[in-house]
Amino acid sequence: MNRSTPRSPGSIRRSLALLAASALTISLAACSSAGSGADAAADERPVVLTTFTVLADIAENVAGDHLRVESITKVGAEIHGYEPTPGDIRKASEADLILDNGMNLEAWFGQFVEGLDVPHVVVSEGVETMDISEDAYAGLPNPHAWMSPVNVQIYVDNMVEAFSELDPENASAFEANGEAYKAELQSVQDELVEELSVLPANQRALVTCEGAFSYLARDAGLTEKYIWAVNAEQQATPQQITSAIEFVRANDVPAVFCESTVSDAPMQQVVEATDAVFGGTLYVDSLSEADGPVPTYLDLIRHDATVIIDALTGQQS
Ligand SMILES: [Zn+2]
Repeated sequence: MNRSTPRSPGSIRRSLALLAASALTISLAACSSAGSGADAAADERPVVLTTFTVLADIAENVAGDHLRVESITKVGAEIHGYEPTPGDIRKASEADLILDNGMNLEAWFGQFVEGLDVPHVVVSEGVETMDISEDAYAGLPNPHAWMSPVNVQIYVDNMVEAFSELDPENASAFEANGEAYKAELQSVQDELVEELSVLPANQRALVTCEGAFSYLARDAGLTEKYIWAVNAEQQATPQQITSAIEFVRANDVPAVFCESTVSDAPMQQVVEATDAVFGGTLYVDSLSEADGPVPTYLDLIRHDATVIIDALTGQQS
């Protein structure tokens, strides 16, 4: 692997232009802040690839301007059973570090990195896992650990360590960025728990398509029910639909939800068979586009909390 290999003719031209421009101001830039320095050397920054968009946003918060962070899967992609393209493999072979969630989230990842000579780090390392209780996945850890901002603080620590190893000169910046972001995570966590605490005892059931909310439900004291455990086949069985319908009826659940990366058709069947309304789309496995409702991870958590509260308390917009 050659880290200095330019990635495209465009980037060479851009680098040369920036180099020329920065040479003129080099004396001024010598003691400037990290921001402008990183801009001038945009294409020379180490490249960090993440497996999905949520991790990319978290990583960018830790990296600041010092690293170039990109996601392998795009916004809206199904990330569990994703099939990497030759372009993904090429891109990964030129990266300096790859971050994956682990806990069997990315079923495709083992094979993907097998032939690559690029270090990778599992960012969920150290998280206290919750097991999946149903389906073929019963007993395996639920991989959606980022749905608890408390867990994401551990992700951040792992990223600070990995980035500091990759780029030791900026270790103190990664540390400071990590601490600042962890404070934001804690405040979003506190908001989430406080907001969801208003739900009355008989309306504390969270019914979703995928069983991706175990950590959030644990943190907020909600009971979780889902149609399928993990978005692998994305095809609900009649038994799974029936089970969700029975749960909604038995618990008088006022609203049910589905996630942005899968079809909500199975949940609409539950809506038709019960008194529940469709409460809205929740985000878990992907951010939205920049102009959508959840361009960042913190937006994702805030958005989901609001959608859940509004729908379960009948304040749907
Ligand atoms: Zn998922």
